[in-house]
Amino acid sequence: ERRAALSASSGPGQTSDGHLVPLLANVGGPADLPAALDAGAEGVGLFRTEFLFLDDSAKAPSEEKQVEAYRKVLEAFPEGRVVVRALDAGADKPLDFLTPADEPNPALGVRGLRTLLEHPEVMRTQLRALAKAAEGLPVHLEVMAPMVADRVDAKAFADACREAGLRAKFGAMVEIPSAALRARSILQEVEFLSLGTNDLAQYTFAADRQVGALARLQDPWQPALLDLVSLSADAARSLGKSCGVCGEAASDPLLACVLVGLGVTSLSMGAASIPYVRAALAKVTLAQCQRAAEAARAMDSAEEARAAAAQVLSGE
Ligand code: PEP
Ligand code: MG
Repeated sequence: ERRAALSASSGPGQTSDGHLVPLLANVGGPADLPAALDAGAEGVGLFRTEFLFLDDSAKAPSEEKQVEAYRKVLEAFPEGRVVVRALDAGADKPLDFLTPADEPNPALGVRGLRTLLEHPEVMRTQLRALAKAAEGLPVHLEVMAPMVADRVDAKAFADACREAGLRAKFGAMVEIPSAALRARSILQEVEFLSLGTNDLAQYTFAADRQVGALARLQDPWQPALLDLVSLSADAARSLGKSCGVCGEAASDPLLACVLVGLGVTSLSMGAASIPYVRAALAKVTLAQCQRAAEAARAMDSAEEARAAAAQVLSGE
């Protein structure tokens, strides 16, 4: 009881039986660091670098400006993990100089890694800036690509990282159902996966994340989404690699326990949610999380899945 209460307010994320689940922060830039440190984040699980690019949508920020911003974030977690996402432009985050203006379906168009592959100079500059920013720091830098569809995408990204001289782990976000279905094959090219459950829900249910009327289908408790999380986590575990979640799903304390039960190895969220997720994990065992995950996946709606997991996790 006492141990659970102590670990709930600070310290590493873990279940009551000591299964460690690093709790990381989602940040958009240096301005978000104080809140992340205050919340006791163990690192950064998603650095959304596109915010740096949104200042001036007419051109990319200079390499020097990028190095400066990346360095500040890397310095905030000297011994920790910092997962930087390569520029994710397009769809809900259009950039004038990169995003085609005439796409009929921007969410299904040239966005994320697809944009970077069409503009290799932008990707090269960013990866080089990251390499410079990390120079001499003990930080564990990880760099991941948004919107990876398959192994070909993953290889193109890993090659670009190597060419830029990046000494880091390279990873792929799982935001497209094809990536979850073929996680094993993607993991032949990269060292870790990170589930972007916001986009993964959007593409699994063909439900635009910006359309409020489709909230039922965007619900991360949807059993189909849990199935895709499970596929990805299983593939990573079987290869001895990690599979985190950095979408909104990780910030729901109850769902966070279910994700851990599905085999997810770290959770990244807005800093404000970290204390709640830490407290929820500290109250349950790993076996309980696994039973909750199984119960949720046996249901046919998000609502039933949530209720089933809540029952198992409350120990009833
Ligand atoms: C996601 O899609 O879940 C994600 C983490 O990325 P973003 O919300 O920035 O698209
Ligand atoms: Mg996304």
